[in-house]
Amino acid sequence: MSSEKIQKTARKYALQNAVQFNGTANPKAVAGKVIAAFKDENISPNEIYQISGSACLEVNKIPIEQQIAELEKLAPELLKKEKKERDFSLPELPDAEKGKVVTRFPPEPNGYLHIGHAKAAIVDYEYAKMYDGKFILRFDDTNPENAQLEFYDVQKEDLRWLSIEWDEEYNTSDHLEKHYKLAEQLIKQEGAYVCKCPSDAIKDGRFHGKECDCRAVSTEKNLDLWKDMISSSVEGVVLRLKGDMKCVNTAMRDPTLFRIIDTPHPLHGDKYRVWPTYDFAGAVEDSLSGVTHPFRTKEYELRDECYFRLLELLELRKPHLMEFARLSIEGMPVSKRKIKPLIDKGMVSGYDDIRLPTLRGLEKRGILPEAIKQFVLSQGISKVESSVTFSLVEAINRKIIDPIAKRYFFVQDPIKLVVENAPAMKKTISLHPTDKKLGSRIIKTDNIFFVPKTDMKKLNIGGIFRLKDLYNVKIKEKNKVIFAEYAGEELIQDSAKIQWTTDNFIKMSVFVPGLLYQKGNYNPNSLEKVEGFAEEAVSRLKTGEIVQFERFGFVRIEKQNNTIMGFFAHK
Ligand code: ATP
Ligand code: MG
Repeated sequence: MSSEKIQKTARKYALQNAVQFNGTANPKAVAGKVIAAFKDENISPNEIYQISGSACLEVNKIPIEQQIAELEKLAPELLKKEKKERDFSLPELPDAEKGKVVTRFPPEPNGYLHIGHAKAAIVDYEYAKMYDGKFILRFDDTNPENAQLEFYDVQKEDLRWLSIEWDEEYNTSDHLEKHYKLAEQLIKQEGAYVCKCPSDAIKDGRFHGKECDCRAVSTEKNLDLWKDMISSSVEGVVLRLKGDMKCVNTAMRDPTLFRIIDTPHPLHGDKYRVWPTYDFAGAVEDSLSGVTHPFRTKEYELRDECYFRLLELLELRKPHLMEFARLSIEGMPVSKRKIKPLIDKGMVSGYDDIRLPTLRGLEKRGILPEAIKQFVLSQGISKVESSVTFSLVEAINRKIIDPIAKRYFFVQDPIKLVVENAPAMKKTISLHPTDKKLGSRIIKTDNIFFVPKTDMKKLNIGGIFRLKDLYNVKIKEKNKVIFAEYAGEELIQDSAKIQWTTDNFIKMSVFVPGLLYQKGNYNPNSLEKVEGFAEEAVSRLKTGEIVQFERFGFVRIEKQNNTIMGFFAHK
């Protein structure tokens, strides 16, 4: 094999890797591809590492535009693949016209937003942008038992964190008078009736497909009952749609449109006691606010018939209802209904617990909003319900932060290492393996170090390892302290490179999230607290910085009072 051929291949992959990572190729990643390309030929990996290393050095010197141009000439297929990987654009909407598309995101203000909401909000927002349309934020706050004042603002903050902006914002609860008028209209048309049956009887009637006596009451009487309902002189009645009690779609068996809820509303106090259900409010609001393409999760599929029937009866415009699958992630509760009890029972520390898929939890562990967006768009708007693993989000996040995260040493479960004949050094070590622009730090070393115990267990007396970015040492004695001797600076192939600190370290804990549910059961050991020593420079990091602890993983730093801690994002 001519080394020229290897060089050419290395150049090609270095270009591809650089284009993928903002112009900087990573020698390790490139070497991996080159090794794979020549796996059937007997070439020493060392030679490939050297060639790939210099290919990256060369490629990283040229601007990204030039890298793309050269790759286009040399191996256009690699560029295309890259484009395809990044092309997360959404499919066209049916019946959509530029400038006329209106979408909306309708959260219930009853909790913090999670990655499932992010899916809905991003899809809605991106479509509005794609068609130069309008995006509405609508608080579906028509259940006063659920809505809470704090969550209107909290949810807006969550959306802003995702860089989502809305053209219009309103609360469904502000339109109640209008809803009442429409309800009255419906009663007058004999399309709805007040039902006095207890809820068990209503359920029973639906189950057996049997109409109740309330259905036969005259329009005038119904109007009176409705007025009584609103003016608070009756209890325990609901307004139901005159659907079809024998319909195969049970959602059409006279669904409830309004019910009495006496709990005060966070915005309206006790001004109203009769509140529309989601069936009524959702359909009416989508139509009246001009939404052209409302997205709903597939669980509402059976309710679509009711949605359109109502709009037809009320002679309101029918939007083009769109559907996508609810997002589920293995081992994570992607639902406010499931998250709330975990918080109430103290099974997680709060809405920003790093095991939760809430946007606050994800932010805290160093998942970037951009990664969430790319993840959502890569999932698309399929209707197929499936559960994905969180590793998909991690992979995207890693791709974004790997080229920009500074590297530091953190030693988990440290053991002392004393090195004989150690030269006293003031070593300048880069903060990133390839991007020199990220700078460096200077570490003063003498003969005392701390290294991970687990690594030392794997090494024998006489074994040589490298203190990463420093020099080699040879183990002489293994006890409560490891004794070793200085063994030169030259890189030794295949020797382990191990992270370390001097005795000028800081103590810190890193919290590592695991899956909250395993095989459907709550896992009480899902949060691990890893204690260790970090190099002194870590003490100067600021809250919110995401760094890589070498050989450990990406970690978001947080400072509280005088302690510094880390939250583990992923490997
Ligand atoms: P939750 O169980 O989390 O409360 P929800 O649907 O009741 O779910 P809402 O605040 O009513 O929560 O939801 C606002 C919007 O977000 C709705 O359009 C809903 O379809 C969407 N949404 C909520 N959860 C998910 C999810 N897991 N995947 C996709 N979309 C979701
Ligand atoms: Mg809801």
